[in-house]
Formats: sequence, structure tokens, C-alpha cells
Amino acid sequence: MALIVKKFGGSSVANAECLKRVAWTIAESYSEGNNVVVVLSAQADTTDELISKAFELNDTPSKREMDVLLSTGEQASVALMAITLEKLGLPAVSLTGWQIGMNTDSAYGSARIKSVATERMKAELDRRRIVLVAGFQGVNKYDDITTIGRGGSDTTAVAVAVALNADLCQIYTDVDGIYTADPRLVKNAKKLDEITYDEMIELAAQGAQVLHSRSVEMAKRYGVEMEVLSSLKREPGTKVRGVNKVEHTKISGVAKDANLARVSIIGIRDEPGVAFKIFRVIANAKKNIDIILQSANNNSANDISFTVAREDLVSVVEILEENKSIIGFSEIKTSDNIAKVSIVGAGMMSAPGIAAAMFEALYDVKVNIEMIATSEIKISVLVNENDADRAVSALHEKFFD
Ligand code: ASP
Ligand code: MG
Repeated sequence: MALIVKKFGGSSVANAECLKRVAWTIAESYSEGNNVVVVLSAQADTTDELISKAFELNDTPSKREMDVLLSTGEQASVALMAITLEKLGLPAVSLTGWQIGMNTDSAYGSARIKSVATERMKAELDRRRIVLVAGFQGVNKYDDITTIGRGGSDTTAVAVAVALNADLCQIYTDVDGIYTADPRLVKNAKKLDEITYDEMIELAAQGAQVLHSRSVEMAKRYGVEMEVLSSLKREPGTKVRGVNKVEHTKISGVAKDANLARVSIIGIRDEPGVAFKIFRVIANAKKNIDIILQSANNNSANDISFTVAREDLVSVVEILEENKSIIGFSEIKTSDNIAKVSIVGAGMMSAPGIAAAMFEALYDVKVNIEMIATSEIKISVLVNENDADRAVSALHEKFFD
């Protein structure tokens, strides 16, 4: 007997048919004698529809009221699942974030989880009930409803697993695991049996949109084993854990992130403090920077280029223009026609020649590299957006075929 947390995403609970299918999956695990806690997302598209409804009425709705509104999607899901399980004769109870004591800070729309109470959930499990927890939502110190950011139900599931000291946190979704590349893009992408937390964090950050990256960071910090699996197929998925059991392959995956833009600041002085001023004003505005490149032009002037999320491009340029006299530069150039392509692998550290092989594969398909960034477990290149898919395929072929 184990304590298992299962999370089902919006597409897995989209309609009556899906709810019934998921109910059977839950019933099976429960009948094997396990204690089962289920975290659900809002039914497919519900969150987006609620957002549109609000914006039809007011294009600057308050964040507090948006959280009250959006949290209803998950509340509906858990109630519907409880009703489905009731029909199967199974004891289940649905609970909101407030009822389980999912305490967060007060940053409406992107709240951070501070603590999770366990009394209520444990009491229900002791009664042999299936506990259904509304994902994505919490409550702050004012007893107001908060939400923890789009896609946040994965993080709710891991937080619940940590609090209850669960044996396993299974994330059911519409893909059947983590692949060596996006299977829609690369035909012979292979499903991985397992992957380390660090690799998964890199792949998630690189745009492999399977898991909320905060959920993996939390799982790593507390050593919770995760598994990503399909809610449609009855087969094992991909385990996400600390150290791979199998001997490590060099590369675990190839990822693409096209949600990027590049900013180049031209003609800055070559003296101490300039980079500091640039990145301080951007950090003060709470905008994230990714790859940074400084190039020396001539004796007195430099350029600095960096990437930001595409939706931040306009505001980052505004911030820089406002601070032009403090920073000192001649002009700003931008491009949103770029994408980042990365190879990720914990085995890369001890394998020389990976970078050379990567650049060779890109050269073979005539893809020009605009910027490069590396870490212990990844190499990323910035390329023209139109070349990105070709680059992913070439890299996958190089490292996996
Ligand atoms: N329903 C929320 C969203 O769409 C949270 C989630 O699905 O994880 O972002
Ligand atoms: Mg999701």
C-alpha cells in the first residue's frame, strides 16, 4: 500500500467521457489498497474562457477578482470528479485550496506556496476516502483566494505530495511521457524511461511544455519522485528523479523555444558598471533575461545583446529608453524572429566533443548560429526562427539516430 498523488490536466478531464475514464484510473489504484490523492486542473479551455469573459467586461480587472474567478474552474473539476466516483460507489471528497490549507503569499495570479496543512487530507485518507484537491489555487493571510500561475496544478500536486510525504507523484497528461524531442516535430523522437530533475528543469525551461518547471524544482528540493504518463494509455511513462539508474546517455533531449526576442544595445561605453546599470533597471522591472552576449566593437564602444520573453520585448525596450541617459548608448535594435534550440543531458559533463558535434550538425544543414550559451548540462544556440525546426531535426538525428 502506498500514498500516491495523481494529477490530471485539463484535457484529461475535458468532458463526461474523459471524467469517467480518469475515474476508472483512480478507482483501480484505490482498489489496489493505495491511499489516493487526486489534484485536478480546470476542464480544458475553461481557464481561457473565464479570462475572456472577464476582459469582455473590463480590460483591467483586479488581480484579486481574477483569482476568485479562475479558481472556480478547478473547483468545478473536483466536484464533477467526486460526483463521477460516487456513481461508481467509491467514497470521495472534493476540497478547495482553502479547505486543505494551501497557504500562499498574496501575489494574486502568481502566488508562491508557503505551506500546506495536512490534517484535513490525512483525516479523509484515514476514512479511506479518495481526496480530490482543486489545483492551481490557495489562500493568503487575508483569507483571500489566490492562484499560483498558469499551468500551476502540477506544482499543487508536488506540494501536496511533499506535505503528505507521498511515495509517488504521477502527472497524467495528453502525452505519454517525456521525449527526446517534441514528437510532433521529430518523427522518431523516443520516449525516455527516466530523466533527472536537472535535465527536466532545463527541458521545461527550454520550452518542452510538459511540466510546470516550478513543480520539478520543488520535487528536486524535496526528493519527490515524479512520473509523467498518459491518461489514455495504460503504460508506464517517464520517471523524473534524482539519479538515473541506467547508465547515462550523453544527451537526453533536444528542445526549442520560439517565445523569445533579442535586444541589442549598441554603442555602450567600455567601462565598469555599464552592464550592471543595464541589468539592474531590467531586474527592477522584474523582467527575466536569458542568454547574454557582449561583443567588443572597437577601443571605446561595445554592444550587449540579450534575450527576453517575447511578451516582454516592448516593455524592456521602454525601460532601457527611459534610462538612456544613465546607461549611455547610441541605439537599440531588436528582433523577434529568433528561436533557441538546446541540447540537454547530464552525461554531457564527462563527454568531450558534444559542442563540436552540435555545431557540425547545424553546419551540415546550413543553420547560422547567432548566439551560444552553455551550462553544465546544456548547450543552447540562438538561430533564425525559420531555421529552428530544421535545427531540431538535425540535432536529433546527430545524437539519437
Ligand atoms: N487551469 C489552470 C491553467 O489553465 C491551471 C492548470 O491547468 O494547471 O493554467
Ligand atoms: Mg497543465
